[in-house]
Amino acid sequence: MYRTLYSPQGGRIILDGREVINMASNNYLGLANHPAVVAAAKEALEKYGVATTASRNICGNYPVHDELEEKLAKFKGVEATLVFNCGVTANSGLIPQLVGKGDFIYSDELNHGSIIDGCRLSGAKIKVFRHMDMAHLEELLQEPVEGKRLIITDGVFSMDGDLAPLPEMADLADQYNALLVVDDAHGDGVMGPAGRGTVDHFGLRDRIIIETGSLSKAFGSAGGFVAGPKEFIEALRPKARSFIFTASPMAPCLTAAAAKAVDLVMENTALVDKLWENRNYFADRLSKLGLNIGTSVTPVIPIIVGDAEKAQKLSEMMYERGVYAQALQFPMVPRGTARLRTILSADHTKEDLDKVVDALEECAKALDLIR
Ligand SMILES: *Cc1c(COP(=O)(O)O)cnc(C)c1O
Repeated sequence: MYRTLYSPQGGRIILDGREVINMASNNYLGLANHPAVVAAAKEALEKYGVATTASRNICGNYPVHDELEEKLAKFKGVEATLVFNCGVTANSGLIPQLVGKGDFIYSDELNHGSIIDGCRLSGAKIKVFRHMDMAHLEELLQEPVEGKRLIITDGVFSMDGDLAPLPEMADLADQYNALLVVDDAHGDGVMGPAGRGTVDHFGLRDRIIIETGSLSKAFGSAGGFVAGPKEFIEALRPKARSFIFTASPMAPCLTAAAAKAVDLVMENTALVDKLWENRNYFADRLSKLGLNIGTSVTPVIPIIVGDAEKAQKLSEMMYERGVYAQALQFPMVPRGTARLRTILSADHTKEDLDKVVDALEECAKALDLIR
């Protein structure tokens, strides 16, 4: 039913017992199997054992948790952060603390499922605006309401690899007295100066003060976080339900791994630079072939096929040629925009990217996508 992985994540993986070039994981910087990250995890594993077995406010708080929160705050250029088990629970823990019954949420139609769940959990009324359509958002904001307002968006959208128009959103948030929150799960470690995220990419650190993020993608570990002003984070700590009710806060080894990953990203920009070099090289070659990469401006690059069966066929043909990239269709993406999604990593070699492009050219021609 699922394909099964028999190797660490990387540019090449052993999938169902055979080696393929991996264009499907979110291991942007190749940190999931980086020697220094593995060593940090091992050290914590040997020192603290496998798991936490108590919530952090009882007796599951380890020094590595505090260290990770401090490092993440430094990395993001914020006062404080709170670490959750994953990005999904960061959203479900945060959003109900921001708005509730009688309040209003303005949410991009392509927002990640965990944002949608967090919004539903809050009990606030949800108004969905068309993807990145700022005129539509403004139209919705013009309807007078009582109660608080929250605008929420992905920083990088994971199906198209496009970027939320945060400067326009921040202006609308100011104008209509709304709080703007960004979930930058695909932006941290990827976008902006030194990978600090989409908010920094747009130079909006002073105007967008609350973010959620994930440690499961560019940072190669598992976990999520909320970043924001110290007073806000300290108020969230005893309240966020997905934080206080779990007896398995981030395992010490995963926490230490994430902290080391943040260190590596902060130490120098080599990995982020390599990721972008790969991204730009690959995107350029695809465009020259005449393949439709939609609105991607990030290392998430869809190859839009349209027809769902064709997208599936393309994925299978690529797999036969030793390349794994996932086909996505409705309801993951709108009808008629089925695609093969590729995700670049600093772990890819140029030679492998060339192989992927050559295979794509052959398959796309066979499927009449290009001539
Ligand atoms: C992947 C993702 C999440 C979930 O993060 P996990 O740490 O994998 O649970 C949340 N939000 C967005 C926008 C994502 O892309």
